[in-house]
Amino acid sequence: MDIQTRLVHTGEERIEGAVVLPIFQSSTFVSQDEQDYNDIRYLRLNNTPNHRALHAKLAAVCGGEDALVAGSGMAAITTALMTVLENGDHLLIQDCLYGGTHSFVTQDAPRLGMSFDFIAGNAPETWAGKLRPETRAIYVETMTNPLLEIADLEAVVEFAREYGLVSLIDNTFASPCNFRPLEIGFDIELHSATKYLNGHSDLVAGAITGSSAHVKAIRHKLNHLGGSLDTHACFLLQRGLKTLALRMRQHNENGLTLARYLTGQEQVARVNSPGLESHPQYERAQRLFSGAGGVLSFELHGGVAAAERLLSGLTLPVTAPSLGGVETLITRPAATSHSGMSPEDRAELGITDGLVRVACGIEAAGDLCADFAKAFADM
Ligand SMILES: *Cc1c(COP(=O)(O)O)cnc(C)c1O
Repeated sequence: MDIQTRLVHTGEERIEGAVVLPIFQSSTFVSQDEQDYNDIRYLRLNNTPNHRALHAKLAAVCGGEDALVAGSGMAAITTALMTVLENGDHLLIQDCLYGGTHSFVTQDAPRLGMSFDFIAGNAPETWAGKLRPETRAIYVETMTNPLLEIADLEAVVEFAREYGLVSLIDNTFASPCNFRPLEIGFDIELHSATKYLNGHSDLVAGAITGSSAHVKAIRHKLNHLGGSLDTHACFLLQRGLKTLALRMRQHNENGLTLARYLTGQEQVARVNSPGLESHPQYERAQRLFSGAGGVLSFELHGGVAAAERLLSGLTLPVTAPSLGGVETLITRPAATSHSGMSPEDRAELGITDGLVRVACGIEAAGDLCADFAKAFADM
């Protein structure tokens, strides 16, 4: 069945005839004859009916054998990494990462005895030079934030197979509607379900999917580390997921329409969107993705001052970090998500002070473009 149908129907249990699975607001459940600690029915052990339903839906939607939700995207990412890597192990990881992942890998992982090397996502010929006998895994993100670069994802899978590494991908920016990494051979797919999967900017959650063996190992680790998702958030995430395919269609349309609109504006110097033919990995995006998603970034000729004037003239986009909700969000990464980096490091990554990032919501594309047109006219 199509992903759109699976999002609605897979995992739904009709308890007492209720069409919608209720929230099981109970931390513990009557003992049956569980043999294994991890099978005891207890909320932290990720096995309430709300967890079960979500796991089934996510596995079906991503094409995994099993799935697991977590208390946040970072709980999913750090628990997966701490499962795959042990003290002494080495990780190859993409050089442009979500901030939380970057600081976990550079600051926390070394204290747990794990080492890492950064790799350039589009230079696969350089990866083998960074291998060590203790290298265990390779980790990338589907698209980098905020420049939307797409690593050579097929080469990552091939490289992992050749050298016996576990391949992990943070697929938050694509969602399983736009890209399903397990289908091209990735081992573990991770999400900040806070973003597109839930889609309404009203919770934080994470998701992990892959083979039964990987998910089982990560679930045991999550059971101990305790980053479990509360059942009320499970309920909201399950509700949000049912409309993911509909929402992604509009996010894709808005992202592309706004990217094209901005490209035609004389104040705009550069637009970064994998949906534009000018994007360096446009061909890869067309081949692997069903849509470019709602996130894009751009630079104005007038730099920071012009960016500030534009932001203050917009009425629809909300000035806030994050993405994937129904409302359009806008930020200047140098002042928010990437403010912790030195200006030199930002410049090296191509993140100028005037760069603006837009995470399109699901408003009508025409209204978004009209709002930008008015703000440009008033500058
Ligand atoms: C937001 C985000 C995360 C972290 O997710 P939380 O739910 O905030 O913990 C990780 N990766 C990417 C790509 C994100 O956008």
